[in-house]
Amino acid sequence: MSSKYFKNPFPDYSENCPDFLEGGRLRSDHPIALELDNKWKEIEVKLQALDCSDYSVYTGTSGIALLKMKRDPTNANTLREALMLLSLNRLKGKRHTFLCGDAGPLAIGIHLNHLLGNSEQVDLLCSKLKSLSQDVVNVQSDLPNEYLYGRAGYLYAILYVNKYVMPQKFDDEFVRLIIEAILVSGRNLSKAFSFKCPLMYEWHESYYLGAAHGVSGILYLLLQVKQYLPDDDLLNLIKPTIDYLTTQRFPSGNFPSSLGRDVDRYVQWCHGAPGFVYLFCEAYKVFHDPKYLQLASECGDVIWERGLLKKGYSICHGVAGNAYCFLELYQSTKEPKHLYRAIKFAEWCFDYNKEHEELSPDRPLSLYEGLAGRLYLYLDIQKPAEAKFPGFTL
Ligand SMILES: [Zn+2]
Repeated sequence: MSSKYFKNPFPDYSENCPDFLEGGRLRSDHPIALELDNKWKEIEVKLQALDCSDYSVYTGTSGIALLKMKRDPTNANTLREALMLLSLNRLKGKRHTFLCGDAGPLAIGIHLNHLLGNSEQVDLLCSKLKSLSQDVVNVQSDLPNEYLYGRAGYLYAILYVNKYVMPQKFDDEFVRLIIEAILVSGRNLSKAFSFKCPLMYEWHESYYLGAAHGVSGILYLLLQVKQYLPDDDLLNLIKPTIDYLTTQRFPSGNFPSSLGRDVDRYVQWCHGAPGFVYLFCEAYKVFHDPKYLQLASECGDVIWERGLLKKGYSICHGVAGNAYCFLELYQSTKEPKHLYRAIKFAEWCFDYNKEHEELSPDRPLSLYEGLAGRLYLYLDIQKPAEAKFPGFTL
C-alpha cells in the first residue's frame, strides 16, 4: 500500500502558519503567485505540441479551451482562440458527455458564442446538444449513468450551459427528464439485485463508487441541482443511498473503488476518498447534518496522509486533483487548515520533480491527465474561495 504514495513531508497545519491570503487572494509574494506568469509562458509553448485529433475536455483540445477561458475570461481574442480549439466542425456525434464526448465542446462552444455575442451560433449549438439526448432520456438504452461516459456527464453539459448562458437555454422540464432517467435507472438496478440502498449504478459490470465512474459522482451532481428534485427523492432515494455508502468505508477512512472490492488502494479524484469529499460536503449543505461534514473532513485526513501520489500530478488521478479536495473542504468549512493543505499540495505540483512521477501520463499536456490541469489549479488557487474542479463542480 505504501508504494502508491510518498510520505507527506510537510508538517500539518498549526496556528503559527503564516497567512496565505491578502484580500482573498494568494499573497503576491507566494512562489505560485510570483512565478505564475513564467509558468504560464513555459507551459503555453509546450501546449503547442498537443494532439489536435482529440477534441475532448478530458484529454484533448477542449480542455485547453477551458484553461484559456480561465486565464483570460474577458479577452475576445482569447475567447476566439478557445472557440477554435473546440473543433466544432468535426465532432463525431458519438459520445454524450461533457468530459469525454461531444457534449463538452458543444456546451463550451455555446458559452463562448454567448460571450462573443453570436446568438445564431448559440441556438444552432443548443439544438445540436439537445439532439444528443435521445439515449439519455431513454431508460431502456444501454447508456451508463456515470460522469465520463454516461447520463451524468450529459446532464453536467446541460447544467453548464444553463449556468453561464442567460436567458436559460434548456427548460426545467428537459432537465427533470434527464434526472428522472438517472433516478429510474438507479432504482431499477437496485431492485433487480436487491441492494440495501434505493439507488445503484454500474459501469463495465462493476458497481463503482468514485467520482469518475461511480455513485458518488452521480449523486454529487444531483445534489448540486437539488432545486430540480422533489423532497421525496432527496430524502427517500438520495439520502439513504449516501448513508449506505458510508457503511462501505474502510477502517482507514478511505473508500473502495467499487462495491465488494476490499483493496484499500486508491486515493485520487476518480477512485476513493477524494470523490467522497465533494459528495459529503454537498450532502451537508443539502441535509444540514454535521455528520457529513465530519465524514468529508476525515476523507481530507486520508488525502493529506496518502494523497501525494507516485502516479503523478494530474487532476484525475494525481496530486493536483487531490489539492482540489482541500479547496472544496476550505470552501465548505472556512477552516484555514484545509487552505494550508491545498497550498502545500499545489506547491508539491509547482516544484515539479520527475522522480515524483513514476508513470508518465498517456496525454501529458491534457487537462485531466497532464500539465494543463496543474496550470488550471495554479490559476484557481489564486482565489481559493472561488476555485472549482473543472468539468465536475458546477
Ligand atoms: Zn483518473
